[in-house]
Amino acid sequence: MDERSPRLDSLSSRRFPVVVVGAGPAGLTVGNILRAAGLECLVLETESREVIERRPRAGVIEEWAVRGLERRGLARNLLERAGLHTACEFRFGGERYRFSYRELAGSHHWVYPQPSLVTDLVREYADVRRGAVRFGVRDVRLHDLDGGRPSVSYVCPETGRREVVACDFVAGCDGARGVTRAALAPERVRVARHDYGIGWLALLAEAPPSADCVLFGCHPDGFAGQMPRSPEVTRYYLQCPPGDDPDAWPHERVWAELRRRLGAAGAAPIAEGRLIEKRVLDMHDYVTEPMASGRLFLAGDAAHLVAPIAAKGMNLALHDAFLLGDALVARLAEGDDSGLAGYSQECLRRVWDYQEFSQWLSELYHGSAAGDPFRAGTTAARLRRLFSSPAAAAAFAEQYLGTAARY
Ligand SMILES: Cc1cc2nc3c(=O)[nH]c(=O)nc-3n(C[C@H](O)[C@H](O)[C@H](O)COP(=O)(O)OP(=O)(O)OC[C@H]3O[C@@H](n4cnc5c(N)ncnc54)[C@H](O)[C@@H]3O)c2cc1C
Repeated sequence: MDERSPRLDSLSSRRFPVVVVGAGPAGLTVGNILRAAGLECLVLETESREVIERRPRAGVIEEWAVRGLERRGLARNLLERAGLHTACEFRFGGERYRFSYRELAGSHHWVYPQPSLVTDLVREYADVRRGAVRFGVRDVRLHDLDGGRPSVSYVCPETGRREVVACDFVAGCDGARGVTRAALAPERVRVARHDYGIGWLALLAEAPPSADCVLFGCHPDGFAGQMPRSPEVTRYYLQCPPGDDPDAWPHERVWAELRRRLGAAGAAPIAEGRLIEKRVLDMHDYVTEPMASGRLFLAGDAAHLVAPIAAKGMNLALHDAFLLGDALVARLAEGDDSGLAGYSQECLRRVWDYQEFSQWLSELYHGSAAGDPFRAGTTAARLRRLFSSPAAAAAFAEQYLGTAARY
């Protein structure tokens, strides 16, 4: 048992209005919203607290999401420490093209590493708002989601015994590899999938950023990207075949490819450093519709995966969590069902918009390396349009920042 989470004795005999499965950004945000309203909830997580606080992934957070966290008292550290980004830079044809999106859309991005956000959220949930949480649970199962007595069971890490927790609602926030999505009745849901047929070598380097903003290298040999994370750590991506072996990318090869694909006239040299993460991501998306069935409501990657092409996944997870947390509070505190009834539809409008933008952006990143002169030609036209048509640039800025008035 985690000693910082004291509310865990005789859980098996307790009943919680809500059980949240998964302590990622989505689950912890839902938990925090419930606790702020004085409602009990139990968060179940397969990993330890130390692991979730260290797991590197996202970094780019949209302004509306930061304001959503701030309104719920969850952005204090973020607003003190996060970097504010107002522009990105495309590199193609050996030239640099700066894209100042704040001038076009009046908004910006925040860069705050996902482990820092998760650390803030878990501290607030478990230590400040005194929410119940169990780390290291095994074999989570959901029961009777359509009946009047839903429950969640799991194998307790200390005793090896199966514990059963009764509840009114289950929030399925257990990410892409969790179990809650599979608990949706297959005849009632549709899972739409898209495979890009592309891999990205995702790298974290112990090195300062090579430029003050996000870099997108659209190169005939494949995409390369740079995302600043902190003054000491920088994320890089290199397009590679799907399923490629990370060991086929030793230090020298990685840095030579980054220098080549991100090289441009007048650009500062790429700052090299030790590679502390190196893994291959196969680019694919899915969307589960609807995101709810019976007493189960999915949020974040459990419901929909968007390849990290446009840095949208954690933003969508937070959007779902705000809606689900507020809807559960309305239902449990005031008996108002309308938020839960409209939850799935409300989330999916933004989900599909972000999926469409990711597909569009994928062609911009990868089209010149497709080995197809026709696609290379249309990709070059798309890139030129971005820097010659104010209307095209404004549309890109709006989608990149997620600032549309209505999704
Ligand atoms: C390399 C990379 C870079 C990215 N960059 C960005 C970015 O810049 N911006 C952005 O918006 N998004 C980005 N993303 C996407 C983002 O990381 C995810 O969309 C986000 O983590 C989703 O949050 P979540 O809470 O839904 O799921 P997760 O963060 O996956 O959390 C789910 C939690 O559930 C736990 N769990 C799993 N199975 C079970 C189970 N059976 N029972 C209990 N618990 C379980 C997991 O251990 C985990 O802690 C990136 C992703 C990757 C891989």
